Amino acid sequence: MPEQNFDVVVLGGGSGGYATALRAAELGMTVGMIEKDKVGGTCLHRGCIPTKALLHAAEVADSAKDSAHFGVKATYEGVDIAGVTSYRENIVAKKYKGLQSLLKARGVTTIEGAGRVTSPTTVQVGDSTITGKNLVLATGSYSRSLPGLDLGGRVITSEQALGLDFVPQKVAVLGGGVIGVEFASVWRSFGAEVTIIEALPHLVPNEEEVISKSLERAFRKRGIDYSLGVRFQSVTQSDSGVVVTLENGKTVEAELLLVAVGRGPSTANLGLEELGVTMDRGFVLTNERLATSIPGVYAVGDIVPGLQLAHRSFQHGIFVAEEIAGLEPIVIEDVNIPKVTYSEPEVASVGLSEARAVEKYGADKVATYDYSLAGNARSEIIGTSGSVKVVRVKDGPIIGLSAIGSRVGELIGEAQLAVNWEAYPEDLAPLIHAHPTQYEALGEAFLALAGKPLHAL
Ligand SMILES: Cc1cc2nc3c(=O)[nH]c(=O)nc-3n(C[C@H](O)[C@H](O)[C@H](O)COP(=O)(O)OP(=O)(O)OC[C@H]3O[C@@H](n4cnc5c(N)ncnc54)[C@H](O)[C@@H]3O)c2cc1C
Repeated sequence: MPEQNFDVVVLGGGSGGYATALRAAELGMTVGMIEKDKVGGTCLHRGCIPTKALLHAAEVADSAKDSAHFGVKATYEGVDIAGVTSYRENIVAKKYKGLQSLLKARGVTTIEGAGRVTSPTTVQVGDSTITGKNLVLATGSYSRSLPGLDLGGRVITSEQALGLDFVPQKVAVLGGGVIGVEFASVWRSFGAEVTIIEALPHLVPNEEEVISKSLERAFRKRGIDYSLGVRFQSVTQSDSGVVVTLENGKTVEAELLLVAVGRGPSTANLGLEELGVTMDRGFVLTNERLATSIPGVYAVGDIVPGLQLAHRSFQHGIFVAEEIAGLEPIVIEDVNIPKVTYSEPEVASVGLSEARAVEKYGADKVATYDYSLAGNARSEIIGTSGSVKVVRVKDGPIIGLSAIGSRVGELIGEAQLAVNWEAYPEDLAPLIHAHPTQYEALGEAFLALAGKPLHAL
């Protein structure tokens, strides 16, 4: 039976797994990375990248429809979904090829096949035994459903939604979190009637309430319907469509139901229970340094409870490789990881919301400032409204920032630096923001919090 030995064995070649492999190789370790499907994982093939390509196509469709507003003559004839698919697939294919080359160039050995952990230092892949001084679990996540809600037919997940070769005329979306909201946004831009069903009182319920409400208003204006604070009860399917019944008796009829209620950890049948790895509902529990209960075994990415985001997985991967190398990397708390919802309008945030800041520091210690994008020339030019909200400790650092508006995802770079470097508004206020840009809105908020507002009262 063939046996291969490495310093580090990584199980799963998605964002978390390949980031671990790249950084470990960079640090001089030998790395074997086991992948049963395609390196790049969910984010590259079924998540971040293809959905953002769809959202960009949606933006182009909206621009064509709205062109008269800008004095440009264009006729919008509709969406050629085959054309959108080929554009999307091209981007994924290029990134996939680039990633394969990069892994090869760094000397990472990619082992094709499904792995099963047989000891803290070995993984079995078919007939091959792969051994490593350290083992990193990075098997990612899958679209889950609700008890009693069977997937199949017209009840689909985001994977099937990406593969549709038509634009549904009427679609129901179960879940008003990031994935549900992004698909709702795309389908609306492509001409569908969309209804979102969310059990919590707001869309994007993990965001500042003021931002959620602002998104709800924007979606209402775009003709996206939603039912908030009411739970799903059942769904029936027929040849022509689905009927979704909610607990308040209301029904929603549609061609398809997208189930976007969250993602579960892909850890079944990996041998982890037999190994004695401490788990909770399938998630692998780790300490803050991403070590599992078994010495020498680490976990990264979506299988570790917390935010399920690609850039968190990248950071986990880099962290674990450096930890194994003895570099003692710093821990980044989940709260300080930037989050972006790439719908139209976009929502972006990092750090604490006002409510969580008040819980942590007390109301008298927290100050906030809301800057409306109505005062931002660049936002006016591109035709978006929205706002930026900054939360600070009084006489202390910036601890949270949230924004809503077209393209505000790009503002989160400066925001995450401000929060993670624990900058004071007074430190940032003298620094210059190019005019006219959307990130000037952050500069204006920092100036205001430092007591010297420019284009605001
Ligand atoms: C529709 C959608 C949109 C998203 N958009 C964004 C976004 O815009 N931004 C963002 O930050 N995040 C986004 N995400 C989340 C992001 O995709 C995940 O957080 C990220 O992919 C998690 O990385 P991971 O390495 O933990 O897992 P994955 O990317 O899921 O990778 C796990 C890999 O392990 C492999 N594997 C599993 N079991 C085995 C086994 N036994 N043997 C060998 N290989 C195995 C799988 O084949 C897979 O390739 C999105 C997700 C979805 C579904």
